[in-house]
Amino acid sequence: MGKNKKSSVPGEEHLHLPVHAALASSETRPPIVDTHTHLVSTFSAYRGKYKQGKYETIYDFVRGLYRDRNVEAIVDVWCEAPVQRSWRELADSALSEEGRRDKWCGVQYWFVMGVHPHEASQYTDEVEKDILEAMAHPRCVGWGETGLDYHYDNSPRDIQQTVFIRQLQQAVRLGKPLTIHTREAEEDTERILKEHVPKEHKIHIHCYTDSPEWAARMLDHFPNLFIGITGVITYSTNLNTSSVVRQMSRPGSQPPAPLRILLETDAPFMVPANLYGALTDVKGRLPLCHTGMIPWTAEFVAAVANEGGESAQAWSVERVVLEARDNARRMYGV
Ligand SMILES: [Zn+2]
Ligand SMILES: [Zn+2]
Repeated sequence: MGKNKKSSVPGEEHLHLPVHAALASSETRPPIVDTHTHLVSTFSAYRGKYKQGKYETIYDFVRGLYRDRNVEAIVDVWCEAPVQRSWRELADSALSEEGRRDKWCGVQYWFVMGVHPHEASQYTDEVEKDILEAMAHPRCVGWGETGLDYHYDNSPRDIQQTVFIRQLQQAVRLGKPLTIHTREAEEDTERILKEHVPKEHKIHIHCYTDSPEWAARMLDHFPNLFIGITGVITYSTNLNTSSVVRQMSRPGSQPPAPLRILLETDAPFMVPANLYGALTDVKGRLPLCHTGMIPWTAEFVAAVANEGGESAQAWSVERVVLEARDNARRMYGV
């Protein structure tokens, strides 16, 4: 008993965040789009931490936490092998106007599907057949996440590469935007993408943590490539992501250079560290991340993009959210 009361886990009411101060005062609350979130894992992290929690279904969770927070759309990610069967129920529930209103409180549910590099060894013809079926669903907006992960090496590297290429070829054939996961694999990811994906193809390098030099090369080669920014940008252990934003924003330039970024959570991981400043009586750390936290990531991006600029604060939280919202439309059509 009393599982919810462990001193290290704040009560679940703290998951319901206040409206970000910078947006509360703005006349038009900018629409939030989370371009990379794992909704099923987020909900199970929630149920795991709050056994008697008040949200009993994924829809309850979304309505409870995202309603009144101006969440306009989420891009949910299915990247397991074998493919989880529950994708269809969620995707179908968002097909009708009525479903979106009653189940999703107006939040637009979209998804991408692919096989994560961690699970590359599990990629089979059967899995590919299931993914191809999902690609035909009207709520499917891309292929991914797929890529290379040499940090964990959960699947052998040669298999990761073969499976990555195979997925790229399918996505390119179908004209599906790509969600890429890459970690400590810069050279191979670059070589493979340049070899197998046409320059104009839409690419989202999600949860970016690699070097600014690599980002510059990729942005230069692929005109429709975007850098995905999660709460990890707020962590002191990661300087690369801020450097990439600084490099793009060219502080002081008039008009300000566009930011080719997408905002994402990669929930349930990576709660933005600056969020705690806005939460008054919370003790301990929140056990999971969710889409309502995006404004704090935007706040951090705005601060970095303004660094070194003369006097004018070219980037506000609102402006970052709006820019990323436009980019999400260009990337995924959402
Ligand atoms: Zn990833
Ligand atoms: Zn992910």
